[in-house]
Amino acid sequence: MTARLIDGTAVARRVREEVGRGVEALVAAGGVAPGLATVLIGDDPASEVYVRNKRRLSVGAGMRDLHRHLPADADQATVAALVDELATDPAVSGILLQLPLPAHLDSDALISRIPAAKDVDGLTTANAGLLAQGRPGLRPCTPAGVMALLDEYEVPLSGAEAVVVGRSVLVGKPMAQLLLARNATVTVCHSRTRDLAEVCRRADVLVVAAGIPGLVGGDAVRPGATVIDVGIHRGEDGLRGDVDAAAVAEVAGALTPVPGGVGPMTIAMLLANTLTAARVQQGVGV
Ligand code: ADP
Repeated sequence: MTARLIDGTAVARRVREEVGRGVEALVAAGGVAPGLATVLIGDDPASEVYVRNKRRLSVGAGMRDLHRHLPADADQATVAALVDELATDPAVSGILLQLPLPAHLDSDALISRIPAAKDVDGLTTANAGLLAQGRPGLRPCTPAGVMALLDEYEVPLSGAEAVVVGRSVLVGKPMAQLLLARNATVTVCHSRTRDLAEVCRRADVLVVAAGIPGLVGGDAVRPGATVIDVGIHRGEDGLRGDVDAAAVAEVAGALTPVPGGVGPMTIAMLLANTLTAARVQQGVGV
């Protein structure tokens, strides 16, 4: 079998266009264009690239770029004061603290200062709790992007066996919650899981977010399964994921490529969250 490739680049473009139309509708209804405050501390090259793309695509969707940059040696109080300022600024619809922060900063304490209504990364305790309870809230962008891909490709979820490899706060845990909310039977694997391949072989839908290049091979995939590769690693011959793509493509029914799978969806869902946040804050079009 040769897996169908799931085209995240194309789906992300459609989501961004839809967000752009939503922004126009918000303004036409008397609202204000959403403002996205990306916050970059220091000058890590990878983070700079991510933030630049988020800013460029938010402007492309008609949003206001309210980017802020602090030096790598900014102390906890300085960053906290910036987050507090953005929290109360009515022009700011969404606050995105680009992670990882420099090691001397306490990320959890800073994330906790972001009001849930402006938490467009879905990382605050409040939004995690709303997700766990199945109530409306802002969802973490990467797992939300995976759900959008599964829906776009009409992958059945109700009653399906879903296996998530990874239990991080950013991806694995919210991914499991979102699949559970859609009535999948969800298994979560992690670094202590016994016989990972055997557990993964149960999956109709396999989502891999372990941060280990090539962790999941063809032997871990049920023939015909849908495999979503969240990993992204820069190697000598380009980008690769957590999945051994060549081997898995022989077995899976559908597979996300790296790059061009989950990656572009993450920013698209950030824009969707920022529009949702603006609508709720302005009470227009909700
Ligand atoms: P991400 O950025 O995708 O959320 P993290 O590096 O924060 O990734 O987390 C990695 C996750 O992957 C952890 O939950 C960890 O338990 C899981 N993990 C790490 N190694 C393995 C492994 N060998 N098998 C299964 N899961 C693993």
